[in-house]
Amino acid sequence: IVRLDKVNKHFGSLHVLKDIDLEVTPGEVVVIIGASGSGKSTLIRCINGLEEFQQGELVVDGNPLKPHGKATQALQKIRTEVGMVFQQFNLFPHLSVLDNVTLAPMRVRGLNRATAVETAERLLERVGIADQAHKYPTQLSGGQQQRVALARALAMEPRLMLFDEPTSALDPEMIGEVLDAMRELANEGMTMLVVTHEMGFAREVADRVIFIHKGEIAEEGPPETIFDAPREEPTRQFLSRVL
Ligand code: ATP
Ligand code: MG
Repeated sequence: IVRLDKVNKHFGSLHVLKDIDLEVTPGEVVVIIGASGSGKSTLIRCINGLEEFQQGELVVDGNPLKPHGKATQALQKIRTEVGMVFQQFNLFPHLSVLDNVTLAPMRVRGLNRATAVETAERLLERVGIADQAHKYPTQLSGGQQQRVALARALAMEPRLMLFDEPTSALDPEMIGEVLDAMRELANEGMTMLVVTHEMGFAREVADRVIFIHKGEIAEEGPPETIFDAPREEPTRQFLSRVL
């Protein structure tokens, strides 16, 4: 569902992504780990077209993205087919929880309000916050807000979900509830690409772990291999710092 072939990305003179080859198949959960500044967010942002890249090929759900971002139609499709959850929740503060979740399906997919509300209520139930539907984002805890962000992304029926450190801005006691919702989503077969520092989650939920080092995929494999028997020295060093 995602294929990157020798993708390179520069910010001015900074070479941030170097010959990235990556394939994600439907239903797969891929976790991306790596040090700060290694290019994890940039990679995720290239995949949903938030950043352009300079060389290589990138295809998301059959939509080819060209270097220098010249493929607006494909970009439009990707934006509606790919869900994204960021570190910051980015909810609309002036809208209720329910309206946050129904907005895009009504505007972009053209659903009528009754249908959108029905879907939203089901999704809020699924992430365990059905009782918060009529509150505003500021009235919720961080963990609850992030679960609204997840429900909002799911309301578009994405074929792929991207997560960029979804629990990094949360108080420790709220991390579990968000990871639980993500784990459930993974178990239901959602295709997921997740940047996280939660190594327990990676070990338990990932089908494959990718370690990015200075803009390159330095090592990848099943979690048991990466965590228990890493082959590359940078991977060992990184894991010795975070585990
Ligand atoms: P972190 O774990 O801290 O989130 P990361 O792996 O997500 O790090 P990126 O945000 O992808 O790292 O950044 C990779 C490199 O690109 C860094 O050196 C960063 O300073 C640089 N960079 C990121 N965004 C920009 C930008 N808009 N303009 C210039 N340089 C950027
Ligand atoms: Mg980042």
